[in-house]
Amino acid sequence: HRRNASAKKYRPRLTPTGQKAGHLYIKYPPKRVFVSGGASGIGKAIVKAFCNAGCQVAFCDIDAKNGNLTAQETGARFLHIDVADVQALEAGLQHIADTWGDIDIIINNAGTFSYTPLTDCTVEQFDKTLAINLRPIFITARFLGRLRKSKQAANSYGRIINISSTRAIMSESGTEPYSASKGGITALTHALTASLSEFSITVNCISPGWIHTGKPQELRPEDHLQHPSKRVGNPDDIARACLWLSMEENGFINGENIVIDGGMTRKMQYI
Ligand code: NAD
Repeated sequence: HRRNASAKKYRPRLTPTGQKAGHLYIKYPPKRVFVSGGASGIGKAIVKAFCNAGCQVAFCDIDAKNGNLTAQETGARFLHIDVADVQALEAGLQHIADTWGDIDIIINNAGTFSYTPLTDCTVEQFDKTLAINLRPIFITARFLGRLRKSKQAANSYGRIINISSTRAIMSESGTEPYSASKGGITALTHALTASLSEFSITVNCISPGWIHTGKPQELRPEDHLQHPSKRVGNPDDIARACLWLSMEENGFINGENIVIDGGMTRKMQYI
C-alpha cells in the first residue's frame, strides 16, 4: 500500500497545456510573463523555460534579428523595444496588458556590460548604463503597481524577478557604471518588495556569477576550476531559479537576493 502511494506522488506531471516540464511548472491558469532582453543569452533561456512551463510569454529586446529568431523558436511574442526608452517600454507593457488582461510575472533581465578605466569613463557612459540596467526596473515595477491598483478584480499572484550580478557584492576596477547599476538593483528590489506587497507581488533578485552564454570567447579548463562547483554557470541555471521563484508555493520568498555563482563569491582568494 505504501509503495503505491509513493508511486502516485512522484508520477511525472504535465503542464496544463500538456507539455512536460520536469518537476516544476507554474500552476493553472497559465501565467502571463514579460521578459526584457529575451533575444539571447540568459533572457532567451528564461523565455524558453517559461514557454515550456505552459506560460504565455512576451519579451522585448533591441536586437530584432535574434528577437525574431527566438520568437519563432519558442512561440513567445517579440516586441522590438529599447528598455532605456521609457515611453516605448511603457507602451509595450500596456499593449501586452491590454491583450492579456494583466501581467503576472515580470523578469527584468536586459543589461549591458562595459569595461572602461575609471579615469576614462564618461558621465554619458555612466548614465547610459543605469538607463539600461537599473531604471527599467523602476518603470516596469511602477507599471505593474499602477495596473494592479487600477483593476477591480484582484489578482492574488505576482512576481518581479530582477537580474542583478555578483558585481553588486564584489567588483573590480573599470566596472563602475555596471557595478553601481547592479548594486542599485538589489536596493531597489528591497523597496519594491515593501511597495508591491499590497498587490500580492513578490520582488526578488538573482545575482548570477560567471554564466557562459557562448560569448565573447571560448572557456579555458581553468575557468571552471576557479569555482567550488567546478564549472561556470549556464543560462539554464538562472532560468530554473526564475521558474522556482514563480511557483505559487514560493510566495514566501520575498525581497531576497539569490546568488547563483557556483560558490565563487564564498571562496577565499589567496594572493
Ligand atoms: P547578453 O548580452 O547575452 O543578453 C542581454 C540581452 O539584452 C541581449 O539580447 C541584448 O540585445 C539585450 N539588451 C541589451 N540592451 C538592451 C536594451 N537597451 N533594450 C532591450 N534589450 C537590450 O547578456 P547575458 O549574459 O545573457 O546577460 C543577461 C543579464 O544577466 C544582464 O542583466 C547581465 O548583466 C546579467 N548577468 C550576466 C552574467 C554573465 O556572466 N553572463 C553575470 C552576471 C549578470
